Amino acid sequence: MTVRLRVGARTDVGRVREGNEDAYVTRHPLFAVADGMGGHQGGEVASKLALETLEKAADGAPDLAEVVRAANRAVFATAAKDPGLAGMGTTLTAVMVEDDRLHLAHVGDSRMYLLRDGNLGRVTKDHTVVERLVDEGRLTPEDAERHPQRSILTRALGVEEDVVVDEADVDVRPGDRVLLCSDGLTGMVDEDDILRILGQHADPQAASDALVAAANQAGGQDNITAVVLDVLEEKKAAAETAPQAAVTETVERPSPMSEPARPVETPPVADRQERFAARPVASGRRWGRAVVWLVVILVLIGGGLFAVKRYWVDRQWYVGESGGNVALYRGIPAAPLGFELSEVVEETELTAEEVTRFPEYRDLAEGITAESEEDAQTIVDLMRADVNEARRQAREPPGQ
Ligand code: MG
Repeated sequence: MTVRLRVGARTDVGRVREGNEDAYVTRHPLFAVADGMGGHQGGEVASKLALETLEKAADGAPDLAEVVRAANRAVFATAAKDPGLAGMGTTLTAVMVEDDRLHLAHVGDSRMYLLRDGNLGRVTKDHTVVERLVDEGRLTPEDAERHPQRSILTRALGVEEDVVVDEADVDVRPGDRVLLCSDGLTGMVDEDDILRILGQHADPQAASDALVAAANQAGGQDNITAVVLDVLEEKKAAAETAPQAAVTETVERPSPMSEPARPVETPPVADRQERFAARPVASGRRWGRAVVWLVVILVLIGGGLFAVKRYWVDRQWYVGESGGNVALYRGIPAAPLGFELSEVVEETELTAEEVTRFPEYRDLAEGITAESEEDAQTIVDLMRADVNEARRQAREPPGQ
């Protein structure tokens, strides 16, 4: 007898991130949560692609872990083809209902919990550095929950050609409640509060909504996803489990706690680094690419400035003042940030003092701009003529 489920699900961008890289699927008998990561739009592509592959391959396939490995290959192949998606990956926590048990396949730090008789038990193990330290007795579980590096993964889908998938069969019975969630929930809300919230809401959709709201209230530092599955009594089942519509939620749904939709995100470099710090090769490549881009941008800016200087500034002329004398300048009479954009080409015998007695040359100190070198030379010639004329007039008063 296949169990009947009632389902609630919500995903939310949270209060800090600009895009939602989480995704889920609730399409009986498949239920899954994925939390993508990777630069540019990689995270969103990875989680969505993993779930799509899972949905397609899950139909009639008995081996969920094999389906998850197929999803791994799909994400890995796409990342290998597109440099913009290189290094992307995703967590994946999926269950497939068969008879009265859930087949579980799991990679990463999204989680499955089972609530039974008022006790909340975690079914999955996080594939994180911190969890490994707990296993080795080098960190207490309490320290791990708040550890700043708790989201550094040791395993993710799509990052390598092959992936080790954790598998389990979980027997369920009426009254059980299953929670699948991303680390945006468990990083913000501790297990006592998750248990309390699950206990407060009989309706699984209300429970999902309340969990997401609690994570947002606690800061909403990450994308948040909660899928709640209630295992129903046989009698209620027939009425309440119309076939589930396919819901591959990759688009943020409006919720009172979520902010208005914003443009597609480019995740902060620090976050990508954090998620992959356990993978020195990948993160090195990532930084390498960031540095290359930085250099390219600086070169383009530098090249742009050089071109402006070479092809525009250096073709400008003006007549100005140099050491008290009139001079011919190449460039423009400006020095942004102390950067001189002109040079004296020729200093004349004309003094600035004499020349600026004429109203038309009053702007000499600021620079009298010219169309060309010839034009500038003409201005100097006119100045010289005017000065000589003034000298002549001074020597020979009018009328003589
Ligand atoms: Mg996350």
